[in-house]
Amino acid sequence: MKVRSDPTCPFCQEEEETALHLLGRCSALSTTRFTLLGLYRMDYNELGNIRWPLLLKLAKASRRFLWPLAYRGSAMGPPGGLSAGCFAYG
Ligand SMILES: [Zn+2]
Repeated sequence: MKVRSDPTCPFCQEEEETALHLLGRCSALSTTRFTLLGLYRMDYNELGNIRWPLLLKLAKASRRFLWPLAYRGSAMGPPGGLSAGCFAYG
């Protein structure tokens, strides 16, 4: 299993790929984020005000829409920042 050494977000290539980036800042997710939360971008404080069920929805949506793009044709699993241990897949 290959380990990706580049921490840059594979979806937007703009920032380091972290849970905060994916949930609140990733531009590749802005449309999905707006659809679910009514916000294109969120900072850390705003993230804290969002109810967890909505964040889980966003996390699931991001997996459904983005991971097949980023990992197409590869045997790699999902990014470590959002492992199945954090967000149950369903
Ligand atoms: Zn990103």
